[in-house]
Amino acid sequence: MDGDPVTIRVLFEEPEPPEAGETCPHCGQGFDYRQLAAALYHRQPAHEPLPLQ
Ligand SMILES: [Zn+2]
Repeated sequence: MDGDPVTIRVLFEEPEPPEAGETCPHCGQGFDYRQLAAALYHRQPAHEPLPLQ
């Protein structure tokens, strides 16, 4: 048998996407950068951590 089927599959599969979590450098709160509202909020130079639900 030529080649390892597991290795071949790994070569052709898309790599796992990186974690979507970011930690805000301003308030230290973790957020998901895919959430536009949160991403924009944490880009403000001065803000408080968002209240957790
Ligand atoms: Zn923040």
